Amino acid sequence: MDRKIDYLIVGQGIAGTILSYKLIKKGYLVKVIDDGHRTASSTKAAGIVNPITGRSYVKSWMIDKLIPEAIRTYRSLENELKGKYYHEHTIVRVLGSIYEENKWSSRLLDGAYSKYIIEDYDTSALDEHFKDVESCAIIKGGRVNLRSLLTEYRNWLIEQEALIESTFKSKHLRVLPRTMYYDDIEVGKIVFAEGVQSIDNQYFPNLPFQPNKGQVLIVEMPDYKIKDIVKHGIFICPIESNRYWVGSGYERDFEDNLPTKEGKNKLKEQLANILKSTEYKIIQHISGIRPSVKGRKPLLGKSNKYSSMYLFGGLGTKGSSLAPYWAEHLISYIEGKIDIHPEVDFNRF
Ligand SMILES: Cc1cc2nc3c(=O)[nH]c(=O)nc-3n(C[C@H](O)[C@H](O)[C@H](O)COP(=O)(O)OP(=O)(O)OC[C@H]3O[C@@H](n4cnc5c(N)ncnc54)[C@H](O)[C@@H]3O)c2cc1C
Repeated sequence: MDRKIDYLIVGQGIAGTILSYKLIKKGYLVKVIDDGHRTASSTKAAGIVNPITGRSYVKSWMIDKLIPEAIRTYRSLENELKGKYYHEHTIVRVLGSIYEENKWSSRLLDGAYSKYIIEDYDTSALDEHFKDVESCAIIKGGRVNLRSLLTEYRNWLIEQEALIESTFKSKHLRVLPRTMYYDDIEVGKIVFAEGVQSIDNQYFPNLPFQPNKGQVLIVEMPDYKIKDIVKHGIFICPIESNRYWVGSGYERDFEDNLPTKEGKNKLKEQLANILKSTEYKIIQHISGIRPSVKGRKPLLGKSNKYSSMYLFGGLGTKGSSLAPYWAEHLISYIEGKIDIHPEVDFNRF
């Protein structure tokens, strides 16, 4: 067990996973401390990478840079862990209004969108299963199997004696003029990647989080035959044979991160509204809190008070696509190669 390390990463959601992996690959001695995914949003997420989003069907912020880095990083993890995490996926969005139809029509004519659009698509399977499908946007996207990735990466960390299974507590940290100690481990730098728990981080006070809760049903639908991700109000996302991730809503007022009866009923009602007749069985009802931020861009940077403490968070609704690119960016910043991008600097507010 190493008693002197370069980096301690707090949190093993997708942010801490990707950041620690990239640091280890660059040759740094790293340990990750995580509390057993107690509040992880990553383990609840579908992991969808959607390049064209919102009612106006606009390209997701920086997506042309995010996707190549995401694919490169997930493929590297696949090679290392011998798993399969990134899947290219067609995303079918049922157009819900004339406004959406008009917006989509204009995207079809815009060359900047062509690499994310599929023009030939047979909608007959949709008609078989869904009510009210008149027109659709067909998008070339992806999905990251976050649950497998996080579990398999955690096991990899354990094999390398690089995981501390516990809650980071500031009372265990001693900050000295030239170094820091976490218990008896000498630590060069700490990066906090705590997801929504960063709200309570004393080293980075007053971060502008606007957390929101999402609830999800994992269902079995033996008669449902669509292998693409469908968004018809809610997402129906195939995850394994006959199993689908159905979700997820954006709740701004909530008491805790637990699933609620109202949340479950709402999802059942939404499914009843869109499906013609498919029978389903609920396997699991889960929920999580997205680490969303005012302005919807990540929060990165160095503590204003402690020069060896950094923040990597605020990944909001898009951790799967944002984490690889911004982890690389944060490392280059820490290594002194670049300035922090002003749009993600946590001091921008
Ligand atoms: C219902 C739902 C659906 C979603 N769907 C998608 C989607 O389709 N695509 C997408 O890209 N994103 C999606 N998201 C968003 C995505 O989950 C987040 O962007 C991303 O997971 C955030 O990752 P993170 O690593 O920053 O935080 P987290 O995943 O929350 O990880 C933080 C980790 O740190 C641990 N931790 C916190 N504090 C401490 C401490 N003091 N000591 C030790 N450990 C600590 C936590 O327990 C957790 O394991 C969804 C989210 C939800 C809730």
